[in-house]
Amino acid sequence: MRGCPDCGSPVDESFRYCPWCAAPQRLKLVDFFRPHPLIEQDQTKALRVSRYLAGPAPERHVRFSVWDDAGAHARARAAVSLDEDEARRLARFLVDSAPPYRDEPAHPPLTDRK
Ligand SMILES: [Zn+2]
Repeated sequence: MRGCPDCGSPVDESFRYCPWCAAPQRLKLVDFFRPHPLIEQDQTKALRVSRYLAGPAPERHVRFSVWDDAGAHARARAAVSLDEDEARRLARFLVDSAPPYRDEPAHPPLTDRK
């Protein structure tokens, strides 16, 4: 347990945001995403997404980088940073354009309901 740098409340170290004041507890959040399993040429690659939380809002950004692990040294092949508005627009695009989950049956037409 450590203290939130903004409000001083105790915060578990696994928390990314303070549960009391919502202040970010880390300056950078990173996650990796696997390539599509059926696209052969992408099997050694991964997408790394880093959200930088430090600094005033105009300086915060989300960086996308394509990593290639072909061989002994993983390295970024390309990268681009988006500001918060553009990152939010990307998130909306992905959610709004996604098909229904594979195992989730489509909603039956209202006329089929009993
Ligand atoms: Zn706090």
